[in-house]
Amino acid sequence: MTPRPASSGTHCPEGVSVFGGTDVRRACGIGLPQGIAKREGSQEMIRVKELTGGVTQLIMARQVAGRGLYRVAAYLVDGVLVDTGMAHTAREAAEALEKRQIRTIVNTHAHEDHFGGNHRLQEQRGLPVLAHALALPVLADPRRLELHAYQRFLFGRPAPSRADAIGETVATLRGALHVLPTPGHSRDHVALLDRSRGWLFCGDAYIGGRERVLREDYDVWGMIDTYERLSRLELERLCTGSGAIVDHPSERLAAKVSYLKERGEQVRELHRQGLDPRAIARRLFPGDRLMRWVTGGHFSALNLVRALLTSPGPPD
Ligand SMILES: [Zn+2]
Repeated sequence: MTPRPASSGTHCPEGVSVFGGTDVRRACGIGLPQGIAKREGSQEMIRVKELTGGVTQLIMARQVAGRGLYRVAAYLVDGVLVDTGMAHTAREAAEALEKRQIRTIVNTHAHEDHFGGNHRLQEQRGLPVLAHALALPVLADPRRLELHAYQRFLFGRPAPSRADAIGETVATLRGALHVLPTPGHSRDHVALLDRSRGWLFCGDAYIGGRERVLREDYDVWGMIDTYERLSRLELERLCTGSGAIVDHPSERLAAKVSYLKERGEQVRELHRQGLDPRAIARRLFPGDRLMRWVTGGHFSALNLVRALLTSPGPPD
């Protein structure tokens, strides 16, 4: 991993990846993520870090042969637990949170690496879970997720949990978090805005690095729209689902919008010149072979090209 310069405002390495830097930025955790240590007696790794202002961050990673793989983050904010990590680290997460006061769990979206700890926490503590209405059927029956081999290996399949549809705010121990729909990465994605701190707990709505590959079900125009809206919030801090902390993120969000729109124009121009999507992918986003191989084609440059060739608009 290559930590970004301190001036970048990113406290955790991100966007560094043998896979070309998009959603698999957490695969940069191949090799031990800095600061993550194996808890005594546990099979998986978890790091608990106190951020400023009383927010707790949990970084979770599956451990194989003594090395942490893909890291995911959860945050405890004034009694609200934002995401619960992967099934493989559910036990460790529950242990780490044992003495913490939690009143509600919120899942930013129903991807398997964000709600894997729900079941255990709910069983042990009877905690309520809130998520976007579209996420509820998946949380109730995670078999609805078609998991590729790499997902089963890295994260495991979560056990079911009972959740209710999230409203416009979520009460905390000292106020409220405001719920922002942030579709694109998934249709059921929400982020939580803490107005008192100026912090946004954004799950996977922000992913570091430049998109060079895309998962086949992502809505790239939704992502762009979300980046644009978030860039206008003038946030103090983004707390991401990878564990990357991005201070004063507006400029970086706006840069992602420009990058993707520019790439969209290039893709369409090459298409007008008669290049097919595969040839465009090879020209503009070379080097996705390892990513395609690891994910069984779930992520690819071709997906990104195809998405950029579609018209902006609401997802189906
Ligand atoms: Zn996700």
